[in-house]
Amino acid sequence: MKKIILTGDRPTGNLHLGHYVGSVANRLKLQEEGGYEKFYIMIADTQALTDNADNVDKVKNNIVQVAIDYLSAGIDPNKVDIFIQSQVPELAEMTMYFMNLVTVARLNRNPTVKDELKLRGFNASIPVGFLCYPISQAADILAFGTTIVPVGEDQLPMIEQTREILRTFHSTYGKEVFAAPNALLPEKKVCGRLVGLDGAAKMSKSLGNCIFLKDEPEVVKQKVMSAYTDPNHIKVTDPGKVEGNVVFEYLDAFCKDEHFGRYLPEYANLEELKAHYRKGGLGDVKIKLFLNNILQELLEPIRQKRKELEKNIDAIYEMLFENSKKASEVAAKTLKNMKDAMGLDYYKFLKK
Ligand code: ATP
Ligand code: MG
Repeated sequence: MKKIILTGDRPTGNLHLGHYVGSVANRLKLQEEGGYEKFYIMIADTQALTDNADNVDKVKNNIVQVAIDYLSAGIDPNKVDIFIQSQVPELAEMTMYFMNLVTVARLNRNPTVKDELKLRGFNASIPVGFLCYPISQAADILAFGTTIVPVGEDQLPMIEQTREILRTFHSTYGKEVFAAPNALLPEKKVCGRLVGLDGAAKMSKSLGNCIFLKDEPEVVKQKVMSAYTDPNHIKVTDPGKVEGNVVFEYLDAFCKDEHFGRYLPEYANLEELKAHYRKGGLGDVKIKLFLNNILQELLEPIRQKRKELEKNIDAIYEMLFENSKKASEVAAKTLKNMKDAMGLDYYKFLKK
C-alpha cells in the first residue's frame, strides 16, 4: 500500500513540548525511516480562524513561526512539503460537499469538539465554522490520499470521523475515491497527551501552560521550577506522589537512562528516582533541576537552528508558497474525482 503521510498544526502560537512528543517526534522518525511516497505538513490557518475570526493577525503571524518551529525541530524541507491550508482552496470546496454527509448531532458528539467548546466558553454562540472543523479536517486528510496521520490523542475522534465521512461518501455515491487514513500515536501513553505545567489539563497554546520550543534557557528553567508536583510533599522527608506529578510525567516523556549518567549519577534510572521520591527524602528542587537539564539539552540545538532560520524569513515564505501551489494541484485531482463520483460532471458532453 502507498504510504502518504499528512499532519498539521493550528498557527495559534508557537509549538510547545506537547507538540514535540505528541506528533513532531513521530514525524522525525517517519522522515528518517523514509519509504513514503509523500509527506505533507499543513499549517492549518483556516482551522485556526474558526475560533479566531476577529484575530486574523495572530493567525497570520504564527504561520511563519510554526514553519520555523518545524524546521528548527529537524523537519527537512527536502523530504517534507510544508504548506498553508488556506492556499489550497480545493479543501474548502471538498468541505462543502462533505458537510452534506454529516449531521449536527454527530458533530456535537465528537468528544474533542465537546471539550474544546467547553474550554472556549462558546455556550450558545458557537461559530458554525468551529463546529464543522472536523469536516474540514477530513477534507485535508482525504484530499492527499493520506494513509498515516501522526497526531496526539485528542485527534483520534477526528480520524474516526474522517473514516466515517469516507464510508458515507463511498456508500452514497457508489465509487471508491478515497484512501483510509490511520492515526499514528506516540508509543508512550504520557506523550499522547502531555500534561500542562499546571497539571490541570493537556499542554495547550490556548491555556497558557506550555513550555515552547523557542523559550530561552532561563524561561524554561523558571517554568520547570514552577511546575505542579505533589501539594502534600512539603518537607523533603515527606513521601511524595509520582502519579499526577507534572515533573515525573515530563521525566516519563523525556528522560532516558543516559541522562542519569550525565546529570544525576547517584541513580541508575527513573524507577530508582521514583522509588526514592515515593519513600521520602527527595526534594522537588532536585528533580526539577534534573528535568531542566534534560529539557535544555533537547531545546538548545532547536533554539540555535531557529536563530539561523530567522535571518531569512523570505526563504520560508517562498517555500510555503511553492509547496502550497503543488498541494493545490494534488487536491484539484482529488476534487475532480470526487465531483465525477457525485455526478457533478455537467460539461462532459461538451465538445471543447
Ligand atoms: P490550540 O490550543 O490552538 O488548539 P494546541 O496546543 O492544542 O493548540 P494543535 O495545533 O491543536 O495544538 O495540535 C497540533 C497537534 O499537536 C495535534 O496532533 C495534537 O494532537 C498535538 N498536541 C497538541 N497538544 C498536545 C499535547 N499536550 N500532548 C500531545 N500532543 C499534543
Ligand atoms: Mg488543539
